[in-house]
Formats: sequence, C-alpha cells, structure tokens
Amino acid sequence: MTIRVWSYLEEYEKERDDIHEAVETVFRSGQLILGENLRGFEKAFADYHGEEHAVGCDNGTNAIVLGLRALGVGPGDEVITVSNTAAPTVIAIDQIGATPVFVDVHEENFLMDVSQVEPVITERTKCILPVHLYGQCIDMAPLQAIADKHGLPILEDCAQSHGARHHGRLAGTFGKAAAFSFYPTKVLGAYGDGGATITNDDETAARLRRARYYGMEDVYYVVETPGHNSRLDDVQAEILRRKLGRLDSYVEGRRAIARRYEAALADTDLIFPRVEDGNEHVYYVYVVRHPERDRIIEGLKEKGISLNISYPWPVHTMTGFAKLGYEVGSLPVTEALAKQIFSLPMYPSLPQDRQDCVIESLREVLKNL
Ligand SMILES: *Cc1c(COP(=O)(O)O)cnc(C)c1O
Repeated sequence: MTIRVWSYLEEYEKERDDIHEAVETVFRSGQLILGENLRGFEKAFADYHGEEHAVGCDNGTNAIVLGLRALGVGPGDEVITVSNTAAPTVIAIDQIGATPVFVDVHEENFLMDVSQVEPVITERTKCILPVHLYGQCIDMAPLQAIADKHGLPILEDCAQSHGARHHGRLAGTFGKAAAFSFYPTKVLGAYGDGGATITNDDETAARLRRARYYGMEDVYYVVETPGHNSRLDDVQAEILRRKLGRLDSYVEGRRAIARRYEAALADTDLIFPRVEDGNEHVYYVYVVRHPERDRIIEGLKEKGISLNISYPWPVHTMTGFAKLGYEVGSLPVTEALAKQIFSLPMYPSLPQDRQDCVIESLREVLKNL
C-alpha cells in the first residue's frame, strides 16, 4: 500500500457528479471569464465570512500581491511577516518591490511571536502580514493593538486557514484584508489554481478588482494605474462555490483524523503543536516534531508512506533571499523547527484503514529508532 501525504482522488470519486455539473453549467453559460459564476462564488465566499467583498484571482500568491497593492504597499516599503511560512508569502512581498522583515515564531505553536513585531517597526513599515500557519490563527488581539497604535493595516495570509476560528471569529475577518489560496491541496481547493482577497472596505475592494484586470474597471477599456492579469476563471469559481458548501464538513473530517492521530500517538515521544485557547484548528497540515525527523521519514518511506516537511528551508536562509541580509542564527526558533518538523498524511477523505496504517507504521518506526 502506498499512502500519499495528500490526494484529491478519493474526494473526486465522491463529488464527481457535482464537479462535472459545475463545469457543464459554466460551459453552457456563455461566460468563461468575469461572468456570473465568478460573481456567484465571490458573493458566497464574502457571505461565508460575513464580509462585504471577495475578489477572486488566479492564485494565493497573487491574492497577497493584489492585497498589498490595494493597501498601498509599494517599492521600498517594509512588510513584517514570518520566515516559517510557505515561500509565496515572501515572494508576494518581493514581487511588488517591498522588503520582507521577519520575526521569529513560538516554539510551542510554530506561529508568529507577536511580541517581536513592535521592535522591528520603522518609518518604512507599511503593513503587517501574519500567517495563520498550518490551520491555526495567530494571537490577533495584541497584533491588532500594535497595528492600531502605529496606524498599520493588517493583511492576513489565510492560505492555510479556511474555516479556522479564533475566539469564535473566522480567520480572514480580523485584518483590513485577507488573502486566500485555492490551490488544490488547501482546505478549500479548486481543480486547478485560484485565490481570493476579502475585505470590508469598499475602496480596497475596488482597487483589488481593478488590479486583477490590467488596472481596468470590469467594463471600461481605460487604465489609470497599470495592474496585473490575475483573474479567477468561472469554471474554478463555480467548482469552489459548490465546494464552499462542504467546507465545514471538510474541516470536520480533518479534525477527526487529527483526533485519531493524537489519541493513537499520545504515548510516543512525538511533540504535538499546542492548539491555543480560543483556536479552532483546521489542520491544513498535521505537523509534529521529533529530533530524529529524517530517520522517521526514511523509515516510513520504506513502508510506502510519504511524509512532507512544511517547511525544510526557512525563507530567510534561501539563497534567493540572501539579499535581505539575515544571518543563519538570526531566527533561532524557526531554524530549529525546520530541522525537526514533518507532516503526516492529512486530507478529509483519507480512508480509515490508511490512517491506521500510518499510525501503526509510525509507532513501529519510533520504537526501532
Ligand atoms: C499556498 C500558500 C500560498 C500561495 O498560494 P498559491 O495559490 O500556491 O499561490 C501563500 N501563503 C501560504 C501560507 C500558503 O500556504
């Protein structure tokens, strides 16, 4: 038996008719781009969050790029974020000519250490970009207080936290805007690429809409501020609209697997990330920590089980970001975690016998270390 860390195939078998119907609906609608199905999804996604606007775009990286631009961030500005994240968080900042400024993460939950944010604020700081990593929200109240004190907007990176809650409120409803990815592996995934940025602010939404469409209003052929071509096509939007209705059940499925892993592995020396009080985790990835990480991955590979590392190379240590001037050792918790963390297979349709196989194999590998 081979078990992959993620697959959409079981889910596709269950949802095939609905997915095909979505494709058929759009193909027969006569509008493939910026049509009524895109608008339908945008409305549903905004409503789900209780926000005024959702603006679809081509991927999560560009949802951040468009979000930063809409918030007025540009060349030479600084954006505070973390290095323990998917590279695209940082790529997006780099892409608009802004400079990422990193703070470290907490040892227990792997999330942004908010207490380090205020000391790195300078007069060039234009935005704070927290990442609700792995499916759990960062501590928003103190971050909001710092942002308010310094008059800085927060753009939330919600690419891993669709449906996650923090003291009852959905991820993405805290900041001035929030960026989502619908890359297929994500908690809400398309059958291809997709992204969206949500906001309550009318002017920010108008800027987002123009920026994803060359800089034009949807209907006029006039550009004031040159933008991008970053549209979400209607086929993906209609698939996403249908899948959005199942988001809460996907999250429930992920939580059930997380509970099984935790119960079955509690007596091993694996270190589980702490779920903070007030957080409802959605387990985009199920990350654990162990000093013998590489041997564990090797051992499970021999048994046909593939594990993932999210992420093996902290962004500030990548050669592509050497220009930022971060020395090795500058973000000690991030760097230590990168050597020890790994993720177990996690997706809501992962069959139970496969979950059992992961658990048994992992227990055996740990015993024989
Ligand atoms: C996936 C991801 C992105 C980028 O999304 P894409 O759709 O792949 O461009 C950005 N930030 C985080 C934290 C992600 O996990």
